[in-house]
Amino acid sequence: MADRTCALPNCTRPSRARTWCAMHYQRWQRHGDPMVKESADQHTARTLRRLREILAMAPTDACLDLGTRRRPISKLLGRYRNASHVMWWLAHGVDPHPLHVLHRCDNGRCLNPRHLFLGTPRDNSRDMVAKGRHPDQRGERNPNAKLTAADVRAIRRRWPRESQVALAREFGVWKTAVHKIVHDEKWQ
Ligand SMILES: [Zn+2]
Ligand SMILES: [Zn+2]
Repeated sequence: MADRTCALPNCTRPSRARTWCAMHYQRWQRHGDPMVKESADQHTARTLRRLREILAMAPTDACLDLGTRRRPISKLLGRYRNASHVMWWLAHGVDPHPLHVLHRCDNGRCLNPRHLFLGTPRDNSRDMVAKGRHPDQRGERNPNAKLTAADVRAIRRRWPRESQVALAREFGVWKTAVHKIVHDEKWQ
């Protein structure tokens, strides 16, 4: 029994349940037929259902990291989207494209709509730099980084007498960058 293979023609995977291999069994669970392969539309519909379930868990201030893969997950309006992109769309009713969906919480797999914000691809790299996610592109060496080391020292000196929002506006960066600067040592 243990070394049986899947009962379906041309399938050599080991038998797991109902005489089928794990893949064919999963197809049967999802579609009632082991030979039915999920179409792109079905995959998208299933993804949207799952994301709506996650959205229903909000509002919370905690990260909603459900282990979603970061690669594009579904094709909507002719374009592959990742989970955080679709989540923004569901939460706000607006397609964020061509803007990028960025994370305030520095957890790229988090899907809490409260932790997501929009930015340009340039903001995206600047944000990563500010968060120290690109170890070799910190500080003044990165052409996208607008802040000089002197700016960073000034921001640290002036906060909290001046608000992070005011400082972010004055130095032309995201408030998240200012937050990171005053709360951790990534920027030297
Ligand atoms: Zn099989
Ligand atoms: Zn989060």
